[in-house]
Amino acid sequence: MYRIRLFSVRHARAFEWIYKRVENMMVLMDPVFAKIGYNRVEKPIALLERGVKGLLFDCQMCGQCVLSSTGMSCPMNCPKQLRNGPCGGVRPGGYCEVKPQMKCVWCQAWEGADRMRENTRIHDVLPPVDRRLQGSSSWLRVSREKAAELRESRNAGKTAVAKAFSEARKIEPATAPLVPEPKNAVDREVRKT
Ligand code: SF4
Ligand code: SF4
Repeated sequence: MYRIRLFSVRHARAFEWIYKRVENMMVLMDPVFAKIGYNRVEKPIALLERGVKGLLFDCQMCGQCVLSSTGMSCPMNCPKQLRNGPCGGVRPGGYCEVKPQMKCVWCQAWEGADRMRENTRIHDVLPPVDRRLQGSSSWLRVSREKAAELRESRNAGKTAVAKAFSEARKIEPATAPLVPEPKNAVDREVRKT
């Protein structure tokens, strides 16, 4: 597993690409998940995620995946579980202070981030890990959150147009010529009288 973890960091750019595709697919699946019920799909998707990411990244299922910000090196494999950079005890050659046979997770993270297209995300300060999400699927969480963001931005676009029209109507000249009434509307009026 450890060797595969190092392999994933060495191929961080390819995994970044794959990760993006998986994320997009999960967002597209949001209506399906919503229909079935997120609670119902949580268990099978979390199992799948555990299997795939456990093999590739030694994933500990923290529920808030940050691999895209940490060069595809999982920070939960740091014995101190540091999420924002290495401790002060990194050994010469980039080995871990606590587990001398293991490369420091954060040294690996910098190497992986250097290989990635979005190589500045490693500078972002990550929020502390929320232990309540331990064991849950971060794929599903991302799918739900990103889909909600998309919906919100679409709705914001619609209300912006409606607002712009109402503003425009306020400044419309009072003498603006009216378009002729449609013929069927006129006929209806005649029939009434
Ligand atoms: S950051 Fe969390 S979800 Fe992502 S690989 Fe590590 S333990 Fe798994
Ligand atoms: S050396 Fe690196 S992996 Fe080891 S405890 Fe410190 S930060 Fe974590």
